[in-house]
Amino acid sequence: MFDENYKFTAIDRFLKYVKIDTQSDEESTSFPSTEKQKVLSKKLSEELKSLGLKDAVMDDWGYVMATLPSNTTKDVPVIAFISHVDTSPAVTGANVNPIIHNNYQVGDIKLPNDPNQVIKVSDNPELKEMAGFDIITTDGTTLLGADNKAGVAEIVDAVNYLITHPEIKHGTIKICFTPDEETGRGTEKIDLNKLNAKYAYTVDGSSRGEIESETFSADAVTIKFHGKNIHPGYAKGKMVNAVRVAAAFIESLPKDKLSPETTDDREGYVHCTNFNGNEELTIVKFIIRDFVTSKLKEYEDFLKQLAEKTIQQFHGARMEFEPVEQYRNMKEILDNYPWVMENAIEGMKRLNIKPILSPIRGGTDGSRLSFMGLPTPNIFAGEHSFHSKLEWVAVQDMELVVKLIVEICKVWEEKA
Ligand SMILES: [Zn+2]
Repeated sequence: MFDENYKFTAIDRFLKYVKIDTQSDEESTSFPSTEKQKVLSKKLSEELKSLGLKDAVMDDWGYVMATLPSNTTKDVPVIAFISHVDTSPAVTGANVNPIIHNNYQVGDIKLPNDPNQVIKVSDNPELKEMAGFDIITTDGTTLLGADNKAGVAEIVDAVNYLITHPEIKHGTIKICFTPDEETGRGTEKIDLNKLNAKYAYTVDGSSRGEIESETFSADAVTIKFHGKNIHPGYAKGKMVNAVRVAAAFIESLPKDKLSPETTDDREGYVHCTNFNGNEELTIVKFIIRDFVTSKLKEYEDFLKQLAEKTIQQFHGARMEFEPVEQYRNMKEILDNYPWVMENAIEGMKRLNIKPILSPIRGGTDGSRLSFMGLPTPNIFAGEHSFHSKLEWVAVQDMELVVKLIVEICKVWEEKA
């Protein structure tokens, strides 16, 4: 049983973490993409150390790793809990002013410093079940950073609980806080030998009960359309304008299917993310997504045929087609280690949390980690409406995640 007299520390920690600006930057080529992420990471390594995790350290790349040693005689597989410290490049994370709406009575929440920012119940049906909860929001001028500082705070609090309750038996638990998840580069410099865990969980999901073992498989495609440039005054019968070739290609894409704006659930898509060029050379970039990896090739073949057909209409035009692998559906790996999901679901059941298994129409650090040899599903952290000024998290959800992390550690020990 969870110690009902335990005084949770997750909220106080969270309110401090969100005050530290850790916005990452997609344009940056350095690692981490922004130095300021290390300010929080350094603080976290010190916090873990002061809790008693002697080896807690931040490396040169900004990864924080620490070990909570086993206190059981059983041989329990080493598991890790992972969260990211950076916040979305989309919305500023500087001068975050968190507001706690105590004893929330279901209704739209107006954020005080921008009348245009209203958290609507109609957009957030979860709020209907949160009467009496305490909801944390921003003042309307920044994002909150619950994605993923809620996860960070929950993990640190769970460590605090385990340390202050040594009667709870657990195996070796690893803690890892990563930079740059939001730029898609969060696992680029991670030292998995140093982490030395067999399985892991990212704590970066949304609603209560969410547990995710399935992500998109993802490729990117660059198509280069080459034209023939010549002074427009002397161009008759000679110029081939690559901008027009590329535009004709885009126009030939299906209008009622195969795009993000026309698909949901398990449907995949091709999505043009960038169009840039001139008469000589125009480059269009696509991302390709589906839950079934083999479908990516089908979509790419389809795009290639369309592009070839297009250049045939422009005499003298050429094109180059370059697909690149991005990440793969982690289910392909996780299905080989079903106990990783089972143990987390068992933890949820013991806390009366109804597991929600939904596929993610995107990727997580777990997708890459799973293919790097560390099977890593994602569990909820309570974050909502992330990457926006309307971001919010419920205090009671955060405390429930602390309990869940503790419970998962117990399940692994019991089943060993
Ligand atoms: Zn996140």
